[in-house]
Amino acid sequence: MKYVSTRGGMLAQGFSDILLEGLATDGGLAMPERIPQVSAAQLESWRSLPYHALAAEVLSLFISDIDAAQLKALTQAAYLPETFQSAEIVSLRPLYDGLSLLGLSEGPTLAFKDMAMQFLGQVFPHVLHTRGATLNILGATSGDTGSAAEYAMRGRDSVAVFMLSPFGRMSAFQRAQMYSLQDANIHNLAVKGVFDEAQDVVKALAGDLAFKNKYHLGAVNSINWARIAAQIVYYFHGWLRATTGPGQPVSFAVPSGNFGNILSGHIARSMGLPIRRLVLATNENNVLDEFFRTGIYRPRSAAQTFLTSSPSMDISRASNFERFVFDLVGRDAERVARLWQQLAAQGSFDLSAYLPEFTERYGFVSGTSTHQDRLSTIRQVIDRTGILLDPHTADGVKVAAPFVEEGVPMLVLETALPAKFSEVIEEALGRPAPVPRGLENLESLPQKVTVLPCDVASVRAYIAEHASL
Ligand SMILES: *Cc1c(COP(=O)(O)O)cnc(C)c1O
Repeated sequence: MKYVSTRGGMLAQGFSDILLEGLATDGGLAMPERIPQVSAAQLESWRSLPYHALAAEVLSLFISDIDAAQLKALTQAAYLPETFQSAEIVSLRPLYDGLSLLGLSEGPTLAFKDMAMQFLGQVFPHVLHTRGATLNILGATSGDTGSAAEYAMRGRDSVAVFMLSPFGRMSAFQRAQMYSLQDANIHNLAVKGVFDEAQDVVKALAGDLAFKNKYHLGAVNSINWARIAAQIVYYFHGWLRATTGPGQPVSFAVPSGNFGNILSGHIARSMGLPIRRLVLATNENNVLDEFFRTGIYRPRSAAQTFLTSSPSMDISRASNFERFVFDLVGRDAERVARLWQQLAAQGSFDLSAYLPEFTERYGFVSGTSTHQDRLSTIRQVIDRTGILLDPHTADGVKVAAPFVEEGVPMLVLETALPAKFSEVIEEALGRPAPVPRGLENLESLPQKVTVLPCDVASVRAYIAEHASL
């Protein structure tokens, strides 16, 4: 399997090559040059597989430069029952009225990003070892991505993580989660600025090619194709758990921000998985809902981006959306390049000519959920089922409900556990979320963090001193 750029300006490369790169050299995103197809018979033959073996089957369709036995060993190490709190790794729990919850948040950082990141924590060291290389992962986080990356890479040789977080702007729980890691290869840098400023420092250093090459800088941000690939697995798993035989339709509802999670659903559907609807749920930052209703994509500025009670979906532009547009325009890379030029020049583009295809051909529908919707959905679901939702998952349930169809299970992706966002739970229910087993003392553990000014020179000096070479 080879990978091409959505903008057409990259020579086809293998999985291991694009694994270690961020954007393609032409500014586009890597996509498999064709979408592998899975037959109904093959799908049925996967019914009894444990999660890690299903992962090896699905991922092998996208990875031809790691041999099958090796890939099995990597997925087995990534999806351990003790890492995800159960043998099934991903649970399926019924709610009511055809809605179920696909439990993707049982990993070490209590959010679905662990599902992909734990695989990266295996495949990165493997590829680096084969190449005799090292990698210093540089990123900025406002919460979930950074901690998932740190837990996946902790203690691995050949990889170090330098994660910038905005000083004083994360919850006590999120800080404790990241800063309590004592591993020598994990560097928490609390910078005195907001997230966007931290992100600018990362972009400046990653854009300094001499510095980037000298210190082997890499990224694990949401445009990384390996993360998209690893997420495809749980759509197959969810379908296999929700059905009893071939061809039965299942819909998925996905709380969305950067369009990474639901893009994996789009790829799974394109592979032949019988997905009826992909329900895209946004919060008040509803750029994507607007696109799927009107065909016009108009990203917003940071100043126009609301701070909401489902903060991991507070995005102004959706990094992975370009991959869907690539498919939508018939994989015409020149067209994609022109659209993104237009976006840079005019701030929007119009694909309303494709409006009928969004649902008919690709299965997409969408909706917006607000702060009040989150609170009332959290109350309603706990009243009816005893299950406590996190605010992002509540957005998913709220937007999914009107799209439920007779005889078609609607699987809502649980993207975080409520303990991560306890203030919102307190607002909804008048009491905090229970702390998961084993994490009761998290906030009293010793923390390892370096506070730095939010500027390029300070972070550059820190990396130069601490990078593994
Ligand atoms: C990252 C995240 C999302 C958004 O996922 P995308 O892949 O960016 O669309 C939703 N909910 C939670 C809890 C997250 O951490």
